[in-house]
Amino acid sequence: MIRFEQVTKRYPDGTTAVDGLSFEVAEGELVTLVGPSGCGKTTTMMMVNRLVEPTSGRVLVDGRDIAGVDPVALRRKIGYVIQQVGLFPHRTVLDNTATVPALLGWKKAAARARAAELLELVGLDPAVHGPRYPAQLSGGQRQRVGVARALAADPPVLLMDEPFGAVDPVVRERLQNEFLALQATVRKTVLLVTHDIEEAVRMGDRMAVYGQGRIEQFDTPATVLASPATPYVADFVGGDRALKRLAVTPVTAEDLDPLPAGTTEAATDPAGPTDPSGPTDPAGLTDPTGLTDPTDPAGPAGTPATRARTVPLGGSLKDALALLLQDDSGRLTVTDAGGRPLGTLTPAGVHRALRRATA
Ligand code: ADP
Ligand code: MG
Repeated sequence: MIRFEQVTKRYPDGTTAVDGLSFEVAEGELVTLVGPSGCGKTTTMMMVNRLVEPTSGRVLVDGRDIAGVDPVALRRKIGYVIQQVGLFPHRTVLDNTATVPALLGWKKAAARARAAELLELVGLDPAVHGPRYPAQLSGGQRQRVGVARALAADPPVLLMDEPFGAVDPVVRERLQNEFLALQATVRKTVLLVTHDIEEAVRMGDRMAVYGQGRIEQFDTPATVLASPATPYVADFVGGDRALKRLAVTPVTAEDLDPLPAGTTEAATDPAGPTDPSGPTDPAGLTDPTGLTDPTDPAGPAGTPATRARTVPLGGSLKDALALLLQDDSGRLTVTDAGGRPLGTLTPAGVHRALRRATA
């Protein structure tokens, strides 16, 4: 969908911002561009919507060399989200969101209806937030409006330059998760620029790690973390890259140990075993003293010492390890999508999973 072929950009003052860049972003893929300040990320992004022209090389969007495409027509197909958001201060949130449909000549009512739909999509209430002015919103809300506006004309491509950079870490993580959920449904082709390695890893289907004006490695976050291509990349992703990998490595069936015999039903029943001495409790997981009420949700069924906590197959090793560390039993029950137990995960299983992910 987006293709760079040996692209170099030298600014008039002689600065070489990017040098011989080649990469491709597939349709529906989210690629993060990550690297320190001044390494050429924004320059790369602006060459996709022709805010910056390459000195040499070609940029193709949807198979066409964009040097021959009218910039205005090109930008209609490319949503653009920037850190400063760039909302018009004297227009309401609804009118800001309707900007591009209005420019495209939609009837006013249709443009506003579309804007309301988009505000809802990014988690804002059009009735409440639509009539407000940008200054009356929080930073996180303004950022959501920026995303809504970029999506309003339903462009196939989205460029996002440090989109969550201006908000505090808690809001940032929420906006990241919201955007990932949104992306799972809208499936845009996205280039997302960030200087934050955690964001690049969390958001990217693949990531481009920039050195000075060059891509040092272009691969999935799991591969970049497991096998940095150069010492520079290893240094950039950090000494704790094994920990970061936990977030992007799923729990798979190979990582599991068998369930203890007979615990099959116990792990799925939210109320816990009804008969503590019966055949559903051969491993003695319930309170042997009989002093607690097994039907009490705060009772033995929910306490760490008496029953393994559960994680779904395909969940991240990070979430699994976080639960394991809180659990006295030293194992988790891994379930399928229907909540049925498939096996157990132990610290040794987590280690095996990480080694498998490297292999
Ligand atoms: P990043 O987004 O990774 O921080 P940029 O693409 O903004 O990096 O900048 C890359 C390099 O190009 C930097 O050295 C920057 O100073 C320089 N640069 C960016 N824009 C211009 C410009 N308009 N004129 C001259 N140099 C520029
Ligand atoms: Mg930049």
